[in-house]
Amino acid sequence: MLVPKTLDELHSALSQGGQVVGGGAGIMSGAMHPRPPAVAIDLSGLGLEGMDPVAGHVGAMVRLAALERFELTGRNAVAAAVAATASPTARRLITVGGVLGGRLHGGDLTPALAVHGACVQVLTRDAPQLRWLPLLDLADLARPFAVLRVTLGAAGPSAFRRIAGHQTVAPSLVSVAGLRHPNGTHTFCVSAATPRAVLVDAERLPPVEKFLDDHRASAAYRREMTSVLISQLTQELAGLEAA
Ligand SMILES: Cc1cc2nc3c(=O)[nH]c(=O)nc-3n(C[C@H](O)[C@H](O)[C@H](O)COP(=O)(O)OP(=O)(O)OC[C@H]3O[C@@H](n4cnc5c(N)ncnc54)[C@H](O)[C@@H]3O)c2cc1C
Repeated sequence: MLVPKTLDELHSALSQGGQVVGGGAGIMSGAMHPRPPAVAIDLSGLGLEGMDPVAGHVGAMVRLAALERFELTGRNAVAAAVAATASPTARRLITVGGVLGGRLHGGDLTPALAVHGACVQVLTRDAPQLRWLPLLDLADLARPFAVLRVTLGAAGPSAFRRIAGHQTVAPSLVSVAGLRHPNGTHTFCVSAATPRAVLVDAERLPPVEKFLDDHRASAAYRREMTSVLISQLTQELAGLEAA
């Protein structure tokens, strides 16, 4: 296990083919097909456990349980997505960096942060400098990389809903976050229903071929439920404004 104390040491660890371990919940869980890395990188020496409410930054090593206690006013979608993720016990392990850096198609936090315009600070093997990326661009980043911080984006009326099937703690089938802009338009982001989190136009959803189709649900069902969740969120956000 490599425990870098500086960015140069982290860059060197990435250059050696190291893989970041966050809370280990995904890497070690039998439910997630565990694949412990050959060279593991522990970010605990880099001071990434902090949350800055003024700047709206949180460190990659912040656990979801800690994020739940953070001041998330104006970011209801984020609060709801965190509360919907896994179980209270798992949320004490799962890190913000682990959800985002793990790039699971079913990550609930990703669409919630994306509608607020969140960005991630990353270090890659290619360049020793830190850089900020729009959160959804993380899906295109070549490994290995490390997520160090995330901005929570701009505050605004937002909401999050998901359908997980029979058990509420089951992996999501469809997760949608929405944000209402001052001019009455919306930004919606879908995950779990699609191979990666994507912004969608509520009036023109992607064709059914763009949705996942597996033993848990057909692509047609996932597309239909995306439409249902978007209309529920639209009503919820209108209600928030009226209140
Ligand atoms: C029982 C259970 C239930 C779950 N339920 C949900 C759910 O309801 N909703 C949901 O969204 N997710 C759910 N998950 C998935 C969970 O959010 C992911 O597995 C997440 O990656 C775990 O975070 P971690 O910090 O433990 O990451 P780890 O297990 O340590 O790492 C997971 C992956 O992320 C990478 N990674 C970790 N930290 C970083 C970083 N800082 N930078 C770059 N890459 C990094 C690792 O290299 C690895 O590929 C569940 C997981 C479990 C085990």
